Amino acid sequence: MAAGTDGPGHSGATDFFLPVVIAFHGDLGFFLKRQERSAQPPSVVTRILNRKTSVKDVIEACGVPHPEVDLILAGGEPVDFSTHVETRTKLDVCPVSDDGPFPSARLQARGVRTFVADGHLGKLVRDLRLLGVDVSYRPEAHDRELLATAVRENRALLTRDRPLLMHRMLSSGYYPRSQFPLEQTVEVVQRFGLAQTLAPFTRCLRCGGQLAVISKTAVIDHLEPLTRLYYDDFQQCLNCGQTYWRGSHLQKLEQRVKTLIDLL
Ligand SMILES: [Zn+2]
Repeated sequence: MAAGTDGPGHSGATDFFLPVVIAFHGDLGFFLKRQERSAQPPSVVTRILNRKTSVKDVIEACGVPHPEVDLILAGGEPVDFSTHVETRTKLDVCPVSDDGPFPSARLQARGVRTFVADGHLGKLVRDLRLLGVDVSYRPEAHDRELLATAVRENRALLTRDRPLLMHRMLSSGYYPRSQFPLEQTVEVVQRFGLAQTLAPFTRCLRCGGQLAVISKTAVIDHLEPLTRLYYDDFQQCLNCGQTYWRGSHLQKLEQRVKTLIDLL
């Protein structure tokens, strides 16, 4: 019997049966189950919906967090995350990219320059701060605090916690693919187009505050005798007061910056 003969009053959730084909383009296959990934993009999966479902929920049920998605086409036309899938259709899901079709239908904000990172990404945070990027970081912060900071201060969330990145409160974020800090740093710089904005050695590695030049006489009482003897150029964090000078540790940091810049 055709479903339509039941009339609208009887079309309960059990009657709903809607196959949807979803093509994940670019590197979004990274988030799919291994058996669903293609060797070459796109990775195409089929899902059967048994209730009216938003595009965001359809995509995230496949494992892809919405901040990773920049363009969604339903039947070839752009849609947003809140659009409901109501008819048999094909979804094309695309990662963030500065070229490609439908530039005005892109879903991710451009020009994001400030971040908040979860407690597992301390080395990434240190690298980004070394390059002068503004990253809020408190290792003990709970998920709720991370989300609140991201929303309140308009920061993109950096995390490898997928459910957290899927939270509906969040508009911008990134899941570092690599487990290695050096590669993660390169990923973040490239994903958010930060290369032209980098300013190494302008931020405090401890708190992320901005550094300002300070005279030797202003800090001399707090210096160790050898530091007092050998160094003349000092900077101080405007936020936490940490003092920096050109000590031997700087060579290691300069090498780290050079390594990072060379990779960009
Ligand atoms: Zn500081």
